[in-house]
Amino acid sequence: MNSKLSGIAASDGIAQAKAYLLIEPDLTVEKKTTSDADAEKARLSKAIEESKEQLAKIRAIAAESLGEEEAQVFDAHTMVLSDPDLIDQTHAVIDDEKVNADYAFKQVTDNFIAMFEGMEDNAYMQERAADIRDVRKRVLARLLNVTLPSPATIDEEVIIIAEDLTPSDTAQLNKKYVKAFVTDIGGRTSHSAIMARSLEIPAIVGTKNITELVSEEDYLIVDGIEGDVIVNPSDDQISEYDKKAQDFADLKKEWDQLRDEPSMTKDGKHVELAANIGTPKDLEGVNNNGGEGIGLYRTEFLYMDSNELPTEEDQYEAYKKVLEGMGERPVVVRTMDIGGDKELPYLELPKEMNPFLGYRAIRVSLDQDAIFRTQLRALLRASVHGNLRIMFPMIATLPEFRDAKAILEEEKAKLIDEGVEVSDAVQVGIMVEIPAAAVLADQFAKEVDFFSIGTNDLIQYTMAADRMNERVSYLYQPYNPSILRLIKGVIDAAHKEGKWAGMCGEMAGDQIAVPLLVGLGLDEFSMSATSILKTRSLLKKLDSNQMKELATQALADCTTVDEVIEMVNRYTAE
Ligand code: PEP
Ligand code: MG
Repeated sequence: MNSKLSGIAASDGIAQAKAYLLIEPDLTVEKKTTSDADAEKARLSKAIEESKEQLAKIRAIAAESLGEEEAQVFDAHTMVLSDPDLIDQTHAVIDDEKVNADYAFKQVTDNFIAMFEGMEDNAYMQERAADIRDVRKRVLARLLNVTLPSPATIDEEVIIIAEDLTPSDTAQLNKKYVKAFVTDIGGRTSHSAIMARSLEIPAIVGTKNITELVSEEDYLIVDGIEGDVIVNPSDDQISEYDKKAQDFADLKKEWDQLRDEPSMTKDGKHVELAANIGTPKDLEGVNNNGGEGIGLYRTEFLYMDSNELPTEEDQYEAYKKVLEGMGERPVVVRTMDIGGDKELPYLELPKEMNPFLGYRAIRVSLDQDAIFRTQLRALLRASVHGNLRIMFPMIATLPEFRDAKAILEEEKAKLIDEGVEVSDAVQVGIMVEIPAAAVLADQFAKEVDFFSIGTNDLIQYTMAADRMNERVSYLYQPYNPSILRLIKGVIDAAHKEGKWAGMCGEMAGDQIAVPLLVGLGLDEFSMSATSILKTRSLLKKLDSNQMKELATQALADCTTVDEVIEMVNRYTAE
């Protein structure tokens, strides 16, 4: 049936392909008694053998499309399936309790998982528990005769439909085949949306129920510019969107011409257009899109992509790669921002009622300072390889900043004592993403080297609207006059003390916000690399004095978001 549904446009571009549902099937196991234990054992052994074959295939595809490192996780899974203890114990349960293989396997793997997870301080054992969980799904799916989705094995063009995508799902996506994705939940600043932009594939999030409305037989068009999904389009719609895709490709070509140009307004005012990255691999995108710096390196992926805490050496290598890759261009590295929507299973942070308001980011770092010190040492050691700036996330109070900075100074002194070379030009700043810090920016500005406004969180905290919750996404209003006033206060406070103010929330690349931010005097705009050229093209059309007038007038007169948008459109149309 032909239909159209809408969500939140999360990553530009138009794509067409058939749907691929990335939805976990129901793997509930029923207990059944059986008199034929041998038959159950044979079923188990067939399921295990088939799972091994499947894993070998997935491994080969993953190694080719994603690299050897990503593929190695599947070796650990194959090893679990060859563990004689696991098989012997399952056989024993089948014999003793006269039950079906599914039930016995579930029970035995439950025990293994509980045992490994019980060894709380041992990251290796935690990792084994995670492997068993993964492998169990595969074997149970075979025993229950249901199909498991497997994004790493996709070998034809598809559009992924999912409730949400985890970082490990997105790590398995091969851009050659995955043309776009659409999810039920999330907002423009949820991590799957940010990933889509760095992968440069169109994405729509927060459709609420696409997983219920679309099935595998459906053919889809995804319009990531408008946030529309066309299900089983007519021929006319296909031609309409072919044309739209061509127009978008032409526009991109035009933007590409600006790759090596400076970012200047029409009247010659330079602002810095920097990129947000999650891993050293993203450097390629930064360079392809003419990034003048890195305004936010989200280091938590170093922690999330692993099953244990990354070592000082692992981190040093990653930071060095990024700093060297950027040469003299500045690189703002944010210290670990774990918690909130970014979980770390091996840290065993307790489940919280309000994780976004809970134990996260700098709060964890100051509390578990051994982890923080390791990161700071790695950063300081890497500082000699480029133009490093260190940034602390989720700072609410000055004492938090002072404590974090004191720890940094302690580690620096220790390294120097050890004879390790450390740069003495490292700027130290904070993310302004908690309203308390924005309101007190004048005091902070006396002590920090810079501010980077994290609007993704600043908006959710100011509007009291969860950035992941599509039901309150109407309140997620970057151009709300209240947000603009907070931003103005932060920029003015920085300038008064001779410091610079940047923005690394998604708002920095928002085409309605950019004219206002230019007018407010923002110095650095850091965004998904793929938004840089589009923004550079927009900047060329803006006169900084006129934008100052726009910002002043918007702040003085506008009472609502709609009034702000209307005023921006009026000014930029002139
Ligand atoms: C922000 O909060 O604006 C930000 C850039 O950080 P993150 O999206 O990682 O929370
Ligand atoms: Mg944040």
